[in-house]
Amino acid sequence: MHRKAFKEVKRYVLDVLEWQEPRKGLQADIDCVKGLRIRKCGDIDLEAGKRETFKEKRAYAHYGCTDGSICVASDFMDLPAHFRIGILLHEIGHACAMNYNGKAYGEPEADLWVKRVLGITIHYDDIRELEYVSGAVVRKVKSRKQ
Ligand SMILES: [Zn+2]
Ligand SMILES: [Zn+2]
Repeated sequence: MHRKAFKEVKRYVLDVLEWQEPRKGLQADIDCVKGLRIRKCGDIDLEAGKRETFKEKRAYAHYGCTDGSICVASDFMDLPAHFRIGILLHEIGHACAMNYNGKAYGEPEADLWVKRVLGITIHYDDIRELEYVSGAVVRKVKSRKQ
């Protein structure tokens, strides 16, 4: 685990959990996440729709629709913390996977980056295949201790 990377990612995730405005973005020394911001996105809200279909049920975030931002749906903040953290870490993984793995830039690579650099395993729930992290990770991210 890269301590510096974890510290930066933790700060970013905590900011988002509290939805403090304005987002400062990540100031990380790890290049891939430098300036990474967060925004709510109409495209995702369209995808989310009424949250009835499988696709709608798991449409909470994406990366790459605008420069340097992770986008989230309007109802992202209604999710329990373990989902919000899992989803954010997965999207940060997307932002970083390209730098880390060269050409490889898919779903497994996003989670692989989270595992290798942050030491955190991303899980998927059975019903929606929605990303989440364990209770231990939630406590670690939320703790004041570095
Ligand atoms: Zn978007
Ligand atoms: Zn993904």
